[in-house]
Amino acid sequence: MPELSRRHLLTGAAMALAAARLRLGVTSPAAAAPVPDDPFTLGVASGDPTVDGVVLWTRLAPDPLAGGGMPPEDVAVTWQVATDDAFTDVVASGIEPAVAALAHSVHAEVAGLTADTWYHYRFSVEGWTSPVGRTRTTPAWPARTPLRLGAASCQSYRDGYYTAHANLAVEGCDLVAFLGDYIYEGGGTGPVRSVPGGEADTLAGYRNRYALYKADPDLQASHAACPWVVVWDDHEVDNNYAGATAQDAVDEATFLARRAEAYQAWWEHQPVRLTAPTGPDLAIHRRVDWGSLARLHLLDTRQHRTDQACGDALKEPCPGWDDPARTLLGAEQETWLLDGLGAEGVVWDVVAQQIVFAPMPVGTAVNMDQWDGYPAQRERVWAALRARPNPLVLSGDIHLAAAIALHDDLDDPTTDRRGTELVVGSVSSRFTAVPPALVEQVLDQVAWWEHVNAAERGYVVVDLTETAMHAELRVVSTTTEPTATVRTDHTVDLAATPVARPVAPTTTTTTTSTGPPPTAPAATTPDGSVTDGPVATTTIPGGASNGATRAMSSPAAAVAATPRYAG
Ligand code: CA
Ligand code: FE
Repeated sequence: MPELSRRHLLTGAAMALAAARLRLGVTSPAAAAPVPDDPFTLGVASGDPTVDGVVLWTRLAPDPLAGGGMPPEDVAVTWQVATDDAFTDVVASGIEPAVAALAHSVHAEVAGLTADTWYHYRFSVEGWTSPVGRTRTTPAWPARTPLRLGAASCQSYRDGYYTAHANLAVEGCDLVAFLGDYIYEGGGTGPVRSVPGGEADTLAGYRNRYALYKADPDLQASHAACPWVVVWDDHEVDNNYAGATAQDAVDEATFLARRAEAYQAWWEHQPVRLTAPTGPDLAIHRRVDWGSLARLHLLDTRQHRTDQACGDALKEPCPGWDDPARTLLGAEQETWLLDGLGAEGVVWDVVAQQIVFAPMPVGTAVNMDQWDGYPAQRERVWAALRARPNPLVLSGDIHLAAAIALHDDLDDPTTDRRGTELVVGSVSSRFTAVPPALVEQVLDQVAWWEHVNAAERGYVVVDLTETAMHAELRVVSTTTEPTATVRTDHTVDLAATPVARPVAPTTTTTTTSTGPPPTAPAATTPDGSVTDGPVATTTIPGGASNGATRAMSSPAAAVAATPRYAG
């Protein structure tokens, strides 16, 4: 639809909705057009929580796999937030438009709630009522309420059932970080399910793809259990794309038009506190503060990156590979990240992003699509991150789960350990580049790779407190059957470097998640401990060998020889 007529439509719809709001009480479902059937086929979700609010999401889609099935008018949808799941104590409610031009998606930004509190929410329209979701607000600065953080990535629909989500939904997480590859653009038939429609590359195609995924009951349960923070990786658009460069040889303008449609569909289907994109650009890097216990830095390593050096697979480094001008984050996001790593009083800095951060040597080759392909910017980011008291990096993308020690010199395990990276595994996407046992054998030889599992699917649950981190790498028994059991494959326990408790609240009434100013002064503790103490004591079951090796082995050669090695 041309921009002018689309804007005209939106303006007219907004006026109609304003009139509807005047006519109707906030508890009366209202619609400008009939809803032909149950529109809540895609479930509900919440996300991007703050100290006093959260974004509530749904999309009206009575015929989800064929464009949604809604009439072309905007529709007014009622939302309610209550302290109980019977909705006898409704504490907030309102009407939000489901805009036709945005796939009748609803993003209700709720404010005025109590900090550090659980709620229930639901939507209704024309007599239809949605499933009920649970959500919560964040603790206010400087509270240090413990955080139970789930993390997941890579959920290829055709590759497997979402047994991981069925289990993640009952882990009791306060928050789930989804690190990308929420959908896969490719179609076709996998081991358990089929994806109709071929490769998605239009707005309609991406919408139907999200609808297919979101119709899954296990994914819906996972979303309904707690708020999520969502970032994208490559497959939300196109495998291994870089900025304006497609995987395949298409010109930049053509790819950017595709990217605009993919980004719009992503926005339409995620509970994000962002303005809908109107073109190929959408800045999604943002922060969530959990009191002064943890600060989540959510990154975008796809949209702003320069093209992979030497090709986007496992390669020997080639000339220009370490050019400091090559970037994963872009200059603006890098500055934003480094600024945000300056806050005093925060115990845990959690960098939640897409791709493996630590060096992953496969013989003498590295994966040019990961941080290994952008070593100069990694060094700048690591210099700021390793100065923090307790850095934790979360990554996904490569369809394996791992625990990695982040040393002062990332590839020198004789230097002090400064932090931890958890590669959170894949919900359903298989590790297919080489036999899983082969890559496990290769990475087991890398000293800082403490643990790796490429054979099984799962997710990670991290418990953060003021004094410790306890992480569990969870794996499901199967993804080829609709139900599965879950077990803990590996645990990581770290004592936190002590951080003095801030004395004065600075943001208790804010409605954004900006948290403390970078220059917020730290208090001294009664025992006079300092914020930048010695590196955390680590307890890694199964521990690391201390003989790091980059020596080429024959498994490494076999892995390196694979033509495509992409998550
Ligand atoms: Ca990926
Ligand atoms: Fe993936």
